[in-house]
Amino acid sequence: MVLDDLGSSLRGTLDRLQGKTRLDEEDVEEVVREIQRSLIQADVEIDLVMELSDEIERRALEEEPPGGTTARDFVLRIVYEEMVDLVGDSTELPLESQTILLAGLQGSGKTTTAAKMAWWFSKKGLRPAIIQTDTFRPGAYDQAEEMASRAEVSFYGDPDNDDPVEIAREGLAATEEADVHIVDTAGRHALEEGLIDEIEAIDATVDPDRRLLVMDAAIGQGAKDQAQRFEEAIGVDGVVITKLDGTAKGGGALTAVNETDSSIAFLGTGETVQDVERFEPNGFISRLLGMGDLKQLAERVERAMETGDEEEDWDPEDIMSGQFTLKDMRHQMNAMNKMGPLDQVLDMIPGLGGGIKDQLPDDAMDVTQDRMRSFEVVMDSMTEKELENPRSVGANQVRRVARGSGQPEERVQELLEQHRMMERTLKQFQGMGDADMQRMMKRMEG
Ligand code: GDP
Repeated sequence: MVLDDLGSSLRGTLDRLQGKTRLDEEDVEEVVREIQRSLIQADVEIDLVMELSDEIERRALEEEPPGGTTARDFVLRIVYEEMVDLVGDSTELPLESQTILLAGLQGSGKTTTAAKMAWWFSKKGLRPAIIQTDTFRPGAYDQAEEMASRAEVSFYGDPDNDDPVEIAREGLAATEEADVHIVDTAGRHALEEGLIDEIEAIDATVDPDRRLLVMDAAIGQGAKDQAQRFEEAIGVDGVVITKLDGTAKGGGALTAVNETDSSIAFLGTGETVQDVERFEPNGFISRLLGMGDLKQLAERVERAMETGDEEEDWDPEDIMSGQFTLKDMRHQMNAMNKMGPLDQVLDMIPGLGGGIKDQLPDDAMDVTQDRMRSFEVVMDSMTEKELENPRSVGANQVRRVARGSGQPEERVQELLEQHRMMERTLKQFQGMGDADMQRMMKRMEG
C-alpha cells in the first residue's frame, strides 16, 4: 500500500510518546525527521516534503494541545490534518452525463482504469461506454473490448482505423445512448512529442468534461515532469493512481497531484474491473497512518454481499437467531474472497492494520487464502446434513470426508475447529447490549 512505510515508522515514533502529556522540541524534531525520511523514501518530491514537515513542526510547537489529549494523539492529529490537506479532496465526479478523457504513459493502467471506472459508474446506475482510441499499442483494442465485456458496458473501437481522432469522433456518435463516455487514449513509453500532439488533438475533438491523468503508483521522481507536460497540454482535473496493491511507494503520485494542483479521483488496487476505489482523503490518510478506514471496509463488505448471492439458501437472519452452520461459514469465506486479498482488508480495520500484519510472516496471508480454498474442497465432500450440523461430525465422518476430498484428516479437523471458533465469536456479539456496541463503535472511530 502507498507510503506503507510512513504508517509503520510513524506509529513506532509516536508510540514512544505514549504516556507523555507535553511535547518538547526534541520529540517534535524526532517525529518530523521520521516523517521526512519516510516521505523521501516513498519518492515524494523533496520540496513538498520540506513544506509539509515544516508546517507539522510549526503547529506541533506553537499550538496548544487541547485539554485531555495525549501528546501522541495531538501530533497524530496534526500529521493527519496536514496530510489530508496535502492530498486534498477527491476529484469531483457528479453522477450525471459526462465525457472523461484518460491520459498517461503506456502501461500506466489506462485501459484497465477505463473499464474499472465504467464498472463503477454502472454500479451507480449510469450507462457508461468505453471508447478505445489506442492505435499505438498492439493488443489494446482486444484488451479494452474484453474488459468492457467483463464490466458489462458498451464499447467502441475500430481495429482497422489507425486515426485515433477519427475513432474518438465516431465512437462518441456510435455510443450516443450511453451517458458517461470514457475515452481511453494511447500512451508511449516516455513523454514524446507524438504523444502530446495526439492527446491534444483527441482532447480538442472530444471536448471532455474531465481529464484524468493515470499514473502507476510506482512512478518515482519522474512524476513531476510527467504531470507538468500533461497539465500544459490538456490540463489535468484529477489523477488516478493504479497498482496500489503492489509494493509501490506511491509518493510520486502525491507529487503529481500537487504539481497539477488537482486531486485524486480513483485508486486502482488490482487487475480486475472491481478493483477500484473512489479516493477519499480522510480514509486514505487514516489507512496510511494506521488508523484504519471503516467506511471503505463497509463499502467493500456491502459490495461483496451484493454479488455473493450464488448460494440459493443462505439467510443471514439464521445467524442472528443464533444458528451458524458450515454453509454460513462458506458464505462468509466467499464474501471475504470477494473483498480482495486479506491483507488489504486487514489494512482497513482500525488499530489492526499495521500492528497485526507486522507480526505475521510475509506469506501468512497467502497461506490463509490457500487454507480457505482447501476448506472449500473439504466442504464439497460433506453431506447436506453435516454442513448444517457440523457438531454431529464424528471421527468416522472425518475420515470419510478426508478420503473423499483428498485432504488430510487434520484439515477437516481444522475446518471444524475454525467453525467452532467463529460460532463462539458470533455468540459473543449476540450477547452484546446496545451500550457495548456503541462503545465499540466509538473506539473504532478513534
Ligand atoms: P495502459 O497501457 O495504460 O492502457 O495500461 P493497461 O491498462 O494495459 O495496464 C498495464 C498493466 O498493468 C496490465 O497488465 C494491467 O493488468 C496492470 N494493471 C493496471 N491497473 C492495475 C492495478 O491497479 N493493479 C495491478 N496489480 N495491475 C494493474
